[in-house]
Amino acid sequence: MASKRFRGKRCVYCGRQEISDTGDHVIARGFFLPSQRANLPQVPACSSCNNAKSQLEHHLLTVLPFGARHSTASLTLNELVPGRLERNARLHRELLDAWNRQWQGAYAPRWSPEMKLPLDGNKVARLCEYMMIGLAWYHWQADLTPPNELRASFFHPSAISSLERLFGNPQWGAHVNENIGAGTLTYRAVQDPPAPARTLWRFTIYGVVMDDAAGWPGVRADAIYGASNPPRT
Ligand SMILES: [Zn+2]
Repeated sequence: MASKRFRGKRCVYCGRQEISDTGDHVIARGFFLPSQRANLPQVPACSSCNNAKSQLEHHLLTVLPFGARHSTASLTLNELVPGRLERNARLHRELLDAWNRQWQGAYAPRWSPEMKLPLDGNKVARLCEYMMIGLAWYHWQADLTPPNELRASFFHPSAISSLERLFGNPQWGAHVNENIGAGTLTYRAVQDPPAPARTLWRFTIYGVVMDDAAGWPGVRADAIYGASNPPRT
């Protein structure tokens, strides 16, 4: 299935040379409705990075649509998720338990907007780190693999305005601002031309809101921010 274009190249994710044997969809096709899957970014990847990333995607693709708030949220949930739950019995049980605890309208055929998911914010952040590496290469041929430093996470709301102000810094050269699949996935990114590995990112996935994020009970976060930097000297 891998075209020649993606074989024998440097793996974008681990940085090993001449090892790629597949074209990885940086943003998994499974996030999107079938009508939205054309022309998604692809990069060369080795099979071990591709497999590790796929496992993460498979988990998140089953859980995240339950928290979707974007414009095609219900289509996404109804069309994409049932088949995935059948293939993952344990996760299915966890989601049903959560559903039973949270269900509020006896007959309303919808999820409560306050539905809480067994969603691991670290897994979402880890996937965003993969996407930062893949998209930096796709847009700018920038290498963010080690020893470059890279981190993505949810942030406390008090940090958001400072993070947003950083995007306005005139030092940034390249700007990317994408909205794929009617809000299914959005990302904004900037890069520093004199230091190609210095980048700043913001992702939203399905408009999902994280509640009680990492040690902050009651706090809500709806975007994941990421930054990369060249190695400290
Ligand atoms: Zn690799």
